[in-house]
Amino acid sequence: MDTAKVQAKILDVLKSAPNGIDEKARKQLFEDCDSSNILTVFNGLLAQGKIEILADEHKNLIYKLKEANLIPGLEKIEDQIVYDHIARSGNQGIWVRDIRTKTNLPMHTLSKILKQLESKKLVKSVKSVLAVKRKVYMLYDVMPDSRVTGGTFYQEQEFDVEFTDLLTQETLKCLTKKAESVAKLETGPLEILTRSFVTISDILKFICRTKIFNVQIKDNDIQKILQCLSFDGKIECSSRVEPSGETVECFRAVAPLISTPSIVRMPCGACPLSEKCSLTGRITPSNCKYFTDWLNLDSNELIQLFFNQNRKMSGAAGPVGRPMKYPYTLSAKIAQFPFKWHVNNQWIWKYYLIGVAVCTPLFYKIQKGANSAANKAKWAESQKKSGH
Ligand code: SF4
Repeated sequence: MDTAKVQAKILDVLKSAPNGIDEKARKQLFEDCDSSNILTVFNGLLAQGKIEILADEHKNLIYKLKEANLIPGLEKIEDQIVYDHIARSGNQGIWVRDIRTKTNLPMHTLSKILKQLESKKLVKSVKSVLAVKRKVYMLYDVMPDSRVTGGTFYQEQEFDVEFTDLLTQETLKCLTKKAESVAKLETGPLEILTRSFVTISDILKFICRTKIFNVQIKDNDIQKILQCLSFDGKIECSSRVEPSGETVECFRAVAPLISTPSIVRMPCGACPLSEKCSLTGRITPSNCKYFTDWLNLDSNELIQLFFNQNRKMSGAAGPVGRPMKYPYTLSAKIAQFPFKWHVNNQWIWKYYLIGVAVCTPLFYKIQKGANSAANKAKWAESQKKSGH
């Protein structure tokens, strides 16, 4: 008899004997098995905490199944063994292949047991973010570890893009607000620079005050967001010594020296599906969200780019090159004066035109009435009467 079968037989026997079995009964029950193998299996079960050895009043050894292992509702010993392996995996869970390796059970039997355990709400399966299509099993009441669920940034094992974007925006807003508020201080630039740094706990307090998020955000979530912002060049990191003597990391928002050109932000350059993307088929730019978002965001810049490109290719006459960065000549000043902006943003332009449009017919009518022949005759008569 192999070890797994001996183990299953011992557990079966002990389950049917709630008061345990003594040494004599043990020998009788397993007389057809190799005694050294039996002892090894018993020792293994003891080490796994599945059975215990007690002594009766005559100091005889009693082998007994541990109380904690007797789960109500588990009819067979195989169910018990599978349950025990799942329980031992804790909040990390155990993959079905690992259960199979440990129990030596055939796949169809194991699937049946797992289904039964799930229907009795003793265990549950959780999708792991570590591997696609991999489910791990854990006890029903156990909260899965963040390494299995993915933590705060995952919702039902899917990466929550909206939540991450919002948290990034709020984190950056906190840093920007701080930088703007200290910039108004009439102190030296060094003081302003030092005071524009905030710590992770300051950011957490700011985010809690907004009451936007209904999940608990932890220090290391903010740490990850700050890391991304730092890679994007939007913030810089430093450290400072607190009055308690502890060194803490602090961060401040920085304005980028140059903006990233639109063409560099194009998603196709880093797209893992670019080789499968074509004008026909399932993966096309026309139904790609990333490409559409990029087009919408940068449409003005793109139109400008294509317009300039077309003009260059067609050899059309006209101004070439870039506008002057600092227009110091009169013609450059006139050429770059933001007329459109002033017309759009100054009320006087709009109301001047409305005023002219409303007043012109009114003044025309007044002028016509005043210079009419009847009015002139009336005026002459009134002058005559008054002796002028
Ligand atoms: S259009 Fe979309 S799917 Fe196609 S290569 Fe660009 S990013 Fe990838």
